Amino acid sequence: MSDFEGLRALVTGGASGIGRATAELLAERGARVAVLDLDPSGVGEPLLGLRADVTDDASVRAAVEAAVAALGGLDVLVNNAGIGAQGTVEDNDDAAWHRVFDVNVFGMVRTARAALPHLRRSPHASVVNTCSIAASAGLPQRALYSATKGAVYSLTLAMAADHVREGIRVNCVNPGTADTPWVGRLLDTAEDPAAERAALEARQPTGRLVGAAEVAGAIAYLASPLSGATTGTSLAVDGGMQGL
Ligand code: NAD
Repeated sequence: MSDFEGLRALVTGGASGIGRATAELLAERGARVAVLDLDPSGVGEPLLGLRADVTDDASVRAAVEAAVAALGGLDVLVNNAGIGAQGTVEDNDDAAWHRVFDVNVFGMVRTARAALPHLRRSPHASVVNTCSIAASAGLPQRALYSATKGAVYSLTLAMAADHVREGIRVNCVNPGTADTPWVGRLLDTAEDPAAERAALEARQPTGRLVGAAEVAGAIAYLASPLSGATTGTSLAVDGGMQGL
């Protein structure tokens, strides 16, 4: 039996990029997987697509309950939905700070709150939060985004401490620049997208962007009983740029 066989997983932001790659990998390895996303219309069998907005508590609760009903319980929560933000503290007003924190931080809190009662009943409960090297790298022009990911990192440690005695593990992954539709959209706004991509790649010690499937591999490891003695950690998937 594989370490993923029979696991029941919910992946937020699972319709695109890192979340999509994670949902597909877990399903390939034998897990039953539901995807919570603003737009799950492109998600098909064997994944179960659930439409929800992580900024809306009622919709999160409804999606978690629908996932639990369809999967017969819940072992794994991958808290992955997130949005980006550029600029210094002067470039984003209060509304922008509230909006990005609402998705990137409170979104994870809402999903965790809805999922924890179900995770308590699992023999292999694991929460994996998608953090970022931005949490600790001191990146320029990323004040708001970095602050949200710093909060995700602290939340991960605090949740790990709170729930370890209930048998629920909580870890995070810290991707570097990963080749996802998000980064594609960012590059599209550049004057010369190809040159901008080449510059991004040149900044990576590996000379290339991180693959979404490579982040998914790290998430799958932390989600499965393979990492059964690991909680309260962050796993960098950054091509050697920086760890936490
Ligand atoms: P992506 O834009 O390709 O996918 C994000 C998904 O989240 C989308 O399907 C989107 O619909 C969904 N989503 C956004 N807001 C939502 C909401 N309010 N409710 C429900 N779903 C919502 O992005 P990605 O690059 O795969 O990023 C996924 C995660 O990885 C994010 O948390 C991001 O911060 C993190 N991350 C990405 C990179 C990178 O370079 N791509 C690096 C470090 C961390």
